[in-house]
Amino acid sequence: MSSHATTALLELNDIHVDYEGIISALRGVSLRVAPGEIVALLGSNGAGKTTTLKAASGLLGAERGAITRGNVRFEALSGAGLDPRRLAQAGLVQVLEGRRCFAHLSVHENLISGALGRRAPRAEVSADAERIYTLFPRLKVRIGSAAGLLSGGEQQMLAIGRALMVRPRLLLLDEPSIGLAPQIVEEIFDVITELNRTQGVSVLLAEQNARVALRHSHRAIVLENGRVALSGEAAELAERADVKSFYLGHAASEQGRLRALKLQQRGGASAAGEPPPRAPLSDVRDGTPPAV
Ligand code: ATP
Repeated sequence: MSSHATTALLELNDIHVDYEGIISALRGVSLRVAPGEIVALLGSNGAGKTTTLKAASGLLGAERGAITRGNVRFEALSGAGLDPRRLAQAGLVQVLEGRRCFAHLSVHENLISGALGRRAPRAEVSADAERIYTLFPRLKVRIGSAAGLLSGGEQQMLAIGRALMVRPRLLLLDEPSIGLAPQIVEEIFDVITELNRTQGVSVLLAEQNARVALRHSHRAIVLENGRVALSGEAAELAERADVKSFYLGHAASEQGRLRALKLQQRGGASAAGEPPPRAPLSDVRDGTPPAV
């Protein structure tokens, strides 16, 4: 896959981020996502992937994080620390790590809630929900089930489905594969690719599963210690020996295992196919709404 679009949809210029005013998480990250591109953000634990996504979507404030230098531009919006609601209205929507949905609401109610900010006519919202069910037929089967009773894979599909109800131009995905069985990961990435190909939705996704991410992306950026260590066409990066040995080999699978463990310990969804042991959805637990 290759993309030659020139005008960026999203631009991060020399972004520096601190948490709590002291922990330096990003030290000069610059990146661009062009219309129609899928860009993967790769890197090991703590490299700064989630922070980069939140810097773009204006969600650092909830984490006591802030952009201390640099500039974010999405469409006509530009600045450091943009308002997430204005970004969403302009078409930038983030799906947070941990597949957050409203655990006690049904699948359908979760989807409809994703469209609330649009104030669209009911018929339009229903038609959009139907399109989501076409993309993710598993959700149609579970339409009346409480989201908290879904498998991890179904929850990830629902979280993406809710975000799509906003009709985004750019979707930010944080570790969509985490803790999921390989077959479910493929299903989810196939849908992401299809959305991109047929509807032109651009995607910036943070992933530790570099193998899958590189296969489904146009370009990739590797972060290390809050800086961009490497970037280029995904197919070319996948062939590089250093990327192969660190991100596509044993070290990568060990990191993936640790991350899945971390998600489970936080009460996150279990591997696909098994219902989570208890309501995993932190928006309900901590009272904060999901990102969309
Ligand atoms: P992971 O895959 O483990 O989530 P990541 O690449 O997404 O890693 P970030 O979560 O962005 O990395 O973390 C970057 C750095 O910022 C790390 O050193 C991390 O400990 C720190 N950090 C992240 N979130 C916070 C927070 N809320 N408060 C303080 N420090 C944080």
